[in-house]
Amino acid sequence: MASMTQPDSLPGGELTARNLLQQTHGRVTPARVGVLGILLNANAALSHQEIEQTALRQGLSADRVTLYRALDWLVEQGLAHKIAGADRTWRYNAQAGIPHQHAHFHCKQCEQVFCLENLQPTLLFGLPDGYQIDEVELNLQGSCPDCRNRNAS
Ligand SMILES: [Zn+2]
Ligand SMILES: [Zn+2]
Repeated sequence: MASMTQPDSLPGGELTARNLLQQTHGRVTPARVGVLGILLNANAALSHQEIEQTALRQGLSADRVTLYRALDWLVEQGLAHKIAGADRTWRYNAQAGIPHQHAHFHCKQCEQVFCLENLQPTLLFGLPDGYQIDEVELNLQGSCPDCRNRNAS
């Protein structure tokens, strides 16, 4: 039986990214590995621009179109998901074994969007018989822990 455990103790997200990509049977290209690695390492969801900037910093030699194409492909494969922010900017985060139904938290102070994987929307349990949910968009807004700490000091 193939082991599904992710080597999350490895430095950086690249090896994990490579592992996840191999499970999709898609082509493992430097852009796909790079972009997924960036998403895995980020602690908040990233916009196109932030992904591009991080790729540049990491010396990933891929142009903008290649990056975006890799990103779209990752979303199609279910390795990443995109979130429509309150500011109408799309942001992306990796999705490694995380159920699609989870809430997103938009911090109004630092404008970051966080995936709250452990917060299962309880409204799902009150759904009348016969309905089946395919997708849930639950966007919460407020202040993230960092911004709250900054304001308190
Ligand atoms: Zn914040
Ligand atoms: Zn998310």
